[in-house]
Order: sequence, then C-alpha cells, then structure tokens
Amino acid sequence: MDRKERIMELVKEGYNNVKALSQYFGVSLMTIYRDVRELEKEGKLVRKHGELKLKTLADAKEEKEGRQTCAYCTKLVDKRLEFIYHLKDGKIKACCAHCGLLIYKNIKEDQVEACMTWDFISGNPINCYSAWYVIGSSAVPCCSPSAIAFANKEHAENFAKGFGGVVVDFEKGVEAIKEMMKRGQRVELKTEL
Ligand SMILES: [Zn+2]
Ligand SMILES: [Zn+2]
Repeated sequence: MDRKERIMELVKEGYNNVKALSQYFGVSLMTIYRDVRELEKEGKLVRKHGELKLKTLADAKEEKEGRQTCAYCTKLVDKRLEFIYHLKDGKIKACCAHCGLLIYKNIKEDQVEACMTWDFISGNPINCYSAWYVIGSSAVPCCSPSAIAFANKEHAENFAKGFGGVVVDFEKGVEAIKEMMKRGQRVELKTEL
C-alpha cells in the first residue's frame, strides 16, 4: 500500500491533520501536504477548517452548487452577490441583483416562496423584496448597469452619494433595470449600424 492509500486509511481512523500524519510517517510536513493536495485533486479528501476529511457526497454536492451559473446571463455565481428565488419546486440562482431583478418577470410570482440575497455592507442574508437597491452606480461588482442590494435604506443612500446611481425598492428596481437595459441596447444597435 503506498503512502497516499495509507493516509486515506488513517484519516478514516481519525488522523485529521497534516501534522499528525507527518509524525506518523516520520516525513516532513511538505511531503504530507503534497500527498494531501494530490488526494484533494483526485476528489478523495477535503480540507475543512484545517481538518482532513474523507470526501462525502454532501461535499461533492456543495462543490457542484458552488460553481453554479446565473440562470439569466450564465456567468459563474459569486456567493457574495448571488440572488436566489426559492420556488416551490427548486431554486433559481442569479449572479447578482442586476440579473435577479431582470429575471423576475420570467418567474411566476405564485411559484416564489422566498427570495434572498446578501447585504452589500454586512454580508448578511436579506429578503430581496424588502431590500433597497442602488441601480446604475459606478461600482460594478458583476453585471452592468449594476444593481447592489442593501438591507438599510440609509446605507444605500450613502453608497449612492459616493458612487452614483439611484436608490429604489424591489418593485422600482425591476422597472429601472429593465429600462436601463433597453436604453443600453438601443445605443449598442446604433453603433452597429
Ligand atoms: Zn447574471
Ligand atoms: Zn451579475
């Protein structure tokens, strides 16, 4: 049995850190790190909070979901900006509030059980419907024109003072982003002709 196989056995038995393994084998930390990294690449081990664990189906699922793409623009979803509609039969994920607000018209309202995103300042989860949005500011963390969500109206207004854009609630946000996209498209068409 080679060392990597033995590592898998040991992790199963409860050796959950690199140091314990390096002592067990009497080799350097670097050597164990290299083995562990290879096992991670092979999808057999995961490191969580510095602890080694055998990879489970739940880990594989989490990894897969972590790499989800936006239902509107197909961009990879960044966890800090994601905008999620929880429907009766699943979820629709958007990369940011821009796509989240645009997608709203394509969703049957009575299918939505909840909608959540993250507060741009605190990173706390917030209800999309009661959030405030700064639309069209010069800060564009994802899609343009940008839409950034805030739990607190005052935070949104202060943000708009610094970076421009308009502060709106959910309903107005849906309209505003649609209008801006239309205008944006018209300009693009002109330059093509
Ligand atoms: Zn998107
Ligand atoms: Zn986006």
